[in-house]
Amino acid sequence: MSKVLNWQLGRDMEYPYDAAFPNSQFAFVFNLNRCIGCQSCTMACKSTWTFSKGQENMWWNNVETKPYGGYPHHWDVKLLDLLDQANPGGQTWNSQPKDLKAPYGQFKGKTIFEVAQTNVSPEGAQRALGYLPTDEEWSAPNRYEDNPTGGQKGQKGQYFTGGEALPQHKTWFFYLARICNHCTYPACLAACPRNAIYKRPEDGIVLIDQERCRGYRKCMEACPYKKSFYRGTTRTSEKCIGCFPRVEGRDPDGGGLPMQTRCMAACVGHIRLQGLVQMNSDGTWKEDRYHPLYYLVHVAKVALPLYPQFGTEPNGYYIPPRWVPRAYLRQMFGPGADAAVEKYANPDRELLAVLQLFGKDARMCFRYEIKEGPKVFETEIRGKKFELYNDTIIGYGKDGRKIIETTVEEPLHVRGAQHANSI
Ligand code: SF4
Ligand code: SF4
Repeated sequence: MSKVLNWQLGRDMEYPYDAAFPNSQFAFVFNLNRCIGCQSCTMACKSTWTFSKGQENMWWNNVETKPYGGYPHHWDVKLLDLLDQANPGGQTWNSQPKDLKAPYGQFKGKTIFEVAQTNVSPEGAQRALGYLPTDEEWSAPNRYEDNPTGGQKGQKGQYFTGGEALPQHKTWFFYLARICNHCTYPACLAACPRNAIYKRPEDGIVLIDQERCRGYRKCMEACPYKKSFYRGTTRTSEKCIGCFPRVEGRDPDGGGLPMQTRCMAACVGHIRLQGLVQMNSDGTWKEDRYHPLYYLVHVAKVALPLYPQFGTEPNGYYIPPRWVPRAYLRQMFGPGADAAVEKYANPDRELLAVLQLFGKDARMCFRYEIKEGPKVFETEIRGKKFELYNDTIIGYGKDGRKIIETTVEEPLHVRGAQHANSI
């Protein structure tokens, strides 16, 4: 085991290999406040990469309903339970945020790599604490989902009748869209006995070499997010490839510029923003103040990693849904959840402008600029003054040329009488 810096945990941790970081890293932010569970992303991925024989149960992108849903079933609850059994009551944080090396404070508990050293499963020692889901658990995504939680006085089916109000709903659910996180410390890679999994130095995308893979499924067992899948027809494992031809700028639609993945570009709710972030030699993000992802993760701090306590340093970030009880969000996104929700619920001018970049263009945005506009509205949000300015945000592609220009206030188009129709 080597000691590596996991900045999401605010400390060094054990990992089976020495740290090695790409120059730039594939990363994304999903705004869960906007996901409508339409599954357009899921189908965009399936119709591009996993429509062949043997890939029927392969959902590189899936959208599940929390708290009850999950694909494979209960993947997160099962791993949280295993961690809790291995370190009872110890999975806690000292949430004193510091610098870029500890933006959420310090994790005091144990990661899946650390627990694996002392926790030998019936099959022998593991590189990372994990489990292999059953066929039944893989068989049907979205089964029994779309059920809210929050029964009255613990009675099943007896939901609160008094309506709902922000900041936290008593009866709630939300959609969690997921793909492989192209982790900085991938558990799939750590667990592979064939060294078939590698992280590309140019963009940090994690791939399985199909020539080397022998289908031992150690990656499926180890990936805490359960984003590696077995294909019976080839007897190999497969996973999200980050649409790497698009990321490389080889999709003709991009005119040579890096493009966002198919699932990002197809998102109906405009909840997704994907890009490449620059990395320092210690694995922290290089300061890039006007890169939209850097801004959302490190400046506004509204976007948080999914289950950072697992320890893989996932490169997928989420703006937590603001109506969900905070304890649930803290368990899922770490101690930054309260501040993130507060900031999102009372956004400042810059955040409102940056949020307009989501879903506006399939090409990747590398830098933004804001041109100030007039104040168009003011109100009070839960006791705080809120002012809306119709600022313009401009996004630039990799070659420095403009790819997006949009305003905070949506333009209003009035259909002329000559176009009246009878629909
Ligand atoms: S999410 Fe899972 S499959 Fe993807 S890189 Fe991380 S550990 Fe590997
Ligand atoms: S396409 Fe977008 S809005 Fe629809 S389910 Fe996927 S992430 Fe959610």
